[in-house]
Amino acid sequence: MRRKLLCLCLILFTLLTAAPFHSSPPTTVSAHTHLHSNNAALTQTSATPLPVSTRRGQPLWPGSRFTEEARERAILRGLNFIYRTALKPRNFRDYGPDYIWCFYTLSEAFRDEKASSTARRMGLERAHFWRRTHRFVPADADAGLISELAYGDDAATSLGLRDDHLRAQLKRAAPRFKARDYLLFDPRTEPPPSDVPDECEYCGADDNPRGSLVCHVCKHRLVMRTRYDVWYDALITTYVGDRSGITLGAHYVDVLKWLPTLRPYHASRNDPDDAEFYDTVYAIAHIVYTLNNYSQYSLSPNLLPQEFEYLKANLREAIREKEDDMLGEFMDTLRAFGLTTNDPLIRQGMEYYLAHQNGDGSWGDRHEKDIYQRYHPTWNAIAGLSEYTWKSEGLSFPEVKPLLEQWNRSVSSSRRSVAK
Ligand SMILES: [Zn+2]
Repeated sequence: MRRKLLCLCLILFTLLTAAPFHSSPPTTVSAHTHLHSNNAALTQTSATPLPVSTRRGQPLWPGSRFTEEARERAILRGLNFIYRTALKPRNFRDYGPDYIWCFYTLSEAFRDEKASSTARRMGLERAHFWRRTHRFVPADADAGLISELAYGDDAATSLGLRDDHLRAQLKRAAPRFKARDYLLFDPRTEPPPSDVPDECEYCGADDNPRGSLVCHVCKHRLVMRTRYDVWYDALITTYVGDRSGITLGAHYVDVLKWLPTLRPYHASRNDPDDAEFYDTVYAIAHIVYTLNNYSQYSLSPNLLPQEFEYLKANLREAIREKEDDMLGEFMDTLRAFGLTTNDPLIRQGMEYYLAHQNGDGSWGDRHEKDIYQRYHPTWNAIAGLSEYTWKSEGLSFPEVKPLLEQWNRSVSSSRRSVAK
């Protein structure tokens, strides 16, 4: 009981501390129409569910041991956990743009009004703070800092907090660096490479040049990042760049066009080196996120049939292995392809999350020191538990649709010729 009260107090405290910022004068606030004007014209195609008030005490589905009320409560507790960690200066310094993007995307996607307005309030408060502390591009900014500022600028703008002055500075500064500086390879001229060293496991050096086999600092052997990892990082960076008109080395389509070189997907959780499995799942999830504006549009599985099949075939493995972070990305992505709470795979995932929430509202390993590994699994668990307001089928960048269709035609015809 005492613990429940403490929880309630914490939630109230968190919301109250957020409140004063809502009325504080924003840096430069103007309506952000980029997404909203498009969306207003789109009608919701999915069936309208029962009003939440009439479902709250009911099981999530016949025979479920969890109720709608428990699901809602778990989501709000998760949001409060993320927000509490976002208020810590060090965490926000390291991951500010990601936190704002998390609140923004959830607030747009949630069907539940209360969860949506809570996420939006949290996102706005953090975005105001970020704006106040990021007004200029430093003269000595490197490609990493420019990317990060572009990410923060896009996330805050998406919540309606524009700063045209900062965006203009970013547009001027971005061309100072090349595609390799932003993306580690140049997608206009080469496929995703397999010679990008990962951060050194011994000394943490993260600036070993491509092709290095040993660390330039400590001389230990380096491990290479998978092609999938390098590729989906570049996909996210160019997605942010194209959304905001700040070209970060190349365009989204320049990166996306290499997708066929990453197919078909073979990696399995049982491989001796399972890095490729993890990176494959995250790469597929980020194809979907960047194509559907992070869960705003549903996607036809016909556009990405191999990705859809791979996820369906591997989701149970994520549950079995208690992959708190990855499971939510699986579920989010499968939901975008049209799976619903009626599907046994989604039900299994939801029950897993509802049975494994930590006392502080988070999911994942409570003893983990890296805050990213604390809030990110929580974000994904919230995603896995949420019902979204899909804004019909659509694409973030409609111009890539012919490319996706063309790939599928060639896959289908090659399958047909094999069958013969
Ligand atoms: Zn080293």
